[in-house]
Amino acid sequence: MERRKVVAVGLISGGLDSLLAAKVLQQQGIEVIGVTFDTPFWDSKQACEIAELVGIPIRVVNISEEHLNMVKNPVYGYGSNMNPCIDCHALMLRAAGRIMEQEGADFLFTGEVLGQRPMSQRFNTLRSVEKLSGYQGLVLRPLSAKLLPETEVEKRGLVDRSRLLAIQGRSRRQQMELAEKFGIVKFTPPGGGCLLTKEGFSRKLKRLLLELPDAEVRHIEMLKHSRFFVLDEGVILFVGRNHHDNKELERLAGEKDVLFNCRGVPGPRGLLVVRDQAHLENYLRLCSEIVASFSDAKPGGEVLVDCGQFGDEKSNIVIACSRDKFSDMMIK
Ligand code: SF4
Repeated sequence: MERRKVVAVGLISGGLDSLLAAKVLQQQGIEVIGVTFDTPFWDSKQACEIAELVGIPIRVVNISEEHLNMVKNPVYGYGSNMNPCIDCHALMLRAAGRIMEQEGADFLFTGEVLGQRPMSQRFNTLRSVEKLSGYQGLVLRPLSAKLLPETEVEKRGLVDRSRLLAIQGRSRRQQMELAEKFGIVKFTPPGGGCLLTKEGFSRKLKRLLLELPDAEVRHIEMLKHSRFFVLDEGVILFVGRNHHDNKELERLAGEKDVLFNCRGVPGPRGLLVVRDQAHLENYLRLCSEIVASFSDAKPGGEVLVDCGQFGDEKSNIVIACSRDKFSDMMIK
């Protein structure tokens, strides 16, 4: 009887290490299924393009809500910005594990390299990730496997440990040599696409979660498509920076949010989001002034700003004043 092919499901970020891990397994005749993710903090586009280029079949899973909930309260805390890398890896492994179970695949793999990243790729943290994922013994790190305790996967002979690697540390020399050997020329830089590793975005996200602890995925999208003002505790105004932002803010507005739009003069959309609706009326004029200050109206000129929740439109006439007046409220 023909022996069933071994199947491995792995995290593919589009970074070199994850591609190499997949290639090392493919070289052993193991069938590889790549998994990548959509979240509010990065998307799957680049990973899909790159995986296709190097011949790794890939699936996309949207983990936006699950991921945002984790970012609000990670078990192992954050890295240097709002990046909860240990929890994030574990969550991605859990999602990949669901695919492994659905497909009847044999094990999971990642491109993690021992000692490469200060927070998430130390010996103990690799173990924590695995434990938190719920798939202990079933997670193989092909690039550093020979430096790590033997996994169930190796013990069961599903993979030939002698053909796995022993890479460690921050030097990229061995990976670059392997990239050449496998003909991989395109890949993303480590952590490159993740907004949670960016200082400016992390500062804004932290403040958003402070003002709006119940923030949903759409609020993160608003943050990505705007200038961000905090007017008072739990009172937030998003102001579009260009046509695309304005369209996104319109699309993302919820029933209880208030949209602002300058009439008769080109200007941005504003979107007011409040934690407590009781005081909403108090902020309509201030928001109109801020939105007008980013319009094309000359300073000192009158601007008519339409605002309102769905089906309840109002207008304010305000004076366009200098943007500097509101700079203290803008979170940069
Ligand atoms: S860098 Fe971003 S995507 Fe990568 S593990 Fe950390 S939080 Fe997750």
